[in-house]
Amino acid sequence: MSLSVLEHGVSETPSVNSEFEAADSYHRGCKRREGAKTLDASLASPRYLAISSQSPRAFLLLHTMQSLNGGDLEPTVRIRELKKDRVNFVLENVDLAFANSLRRVMMADIPTVAIDMVVIEINTTVLPDEFIAHRLGMIPLVSSNAEEAIRYNRDCTCPVSCKYCSIDLVLHVACHEGKTMDITSNHLDVIAPNMFDTPDDQGEVGDYGEELTKRVENFGHPVGKGDPSMPPVLICKIRKGQELKLKCIAKKGIAKEHAKWSPCSAVSFEYDPHNKLRHTTYWFENSSKTEWPVSELNGKEEEPERDDEAFDFNAKPNRFYFEVETDGSLGPQEVVMKNSKQNWQT
Ligand SMILES: [Zn+2]
Repeated sequence: MSLSVLEHGVSETPSVNSEFEAADSYHRGCKRREGAKTLDASLASPRYLAISSQSPRAFLLLHTMQSLNGGDLEPTVRIRELKKDRVNFVLENVDLAFANSLRRVMMADIPTVAIDMVVIEINTTVLPDEFIAHRLGMIPLVSSNAEEAIRYNRDCTCPVSCKYCSIDLVLHVACHEGKTMDITSNHLDVIAPNMFDTPDDQGEVGDYGEELTKRVENFGHPVGKGDPSMPPVLICKIRKGQELKLKCIAKKGIAKEHAKWSPCSAVSFEYDPHNKLRHTTYWFENSSKTEWPVSELNGKEEEPERDDEAFDFNAKPNRFYFEVETDGSLGPQEVVMKNSKQNWQT
């Protein structure tokens, strides 16, 4: 089996497209839309093998999708819009259960890094320690490739935390001026791990440093730090004479443990925009029409039901319009593609 993962028409955000690399010349059978991005997966000829080997995650995902679908039709993913923190795509030729499982995996099963322990040294702000610790936990941290770049603390042999399973951050802000001051995520500084530490009892023999080499430069930093176009997350407001000094330990986790580890701020999908399957026939509050409103964009993708069209009792939804928005800890392409490796491999 072979497949291709192809994209065309991409112009605005070239930096986030590494997963979708492909050549236009290989593309076939996919309608070009102006300004839209398209990811088409066809499972056809051997000449696509070279491309599939460049994108093993995509291969695995599509392979699984095809086997779940019974192999009747080729599952396709068509990206309609791809931005730095969100992606809109159409998934076709899979069943509703698969589409929903994809949504749930993206929300709760993709590992990221988040602050998990806080040691407060000085807190003379108006907020109690627990309040501040909770707010710190919810700050999104850059978690690219967290799967390989950091260990789960529970899998590590260290007693509490170490550079292989944790990221250390510090914050120390004091207000000396006569006006209100904001303490934000930009005040959090990552303590760089000491690469020359002797391993001692850290990890198993042969494992040393493997994770550290797979980290991006700003791994564990608050999302948007140093980016003037992105407003920081407000932690607390202080006035003259107040001070906050603390140390945080960020760890890897998934959102099944705590929502702070979710890379997504919103994941949704729609199907059957014209309600051809008549979901509201037997249950509605006021009107069966208004309670399944036609969405503007997705309504154009499918033909509305004609008045003389007979109802198909055996029809099943097979086209799903996804909208995935991330909090910045991971890019949308990583969230979508991680599904395959993380959960559909076994
Ligand atoms: Zn450790």
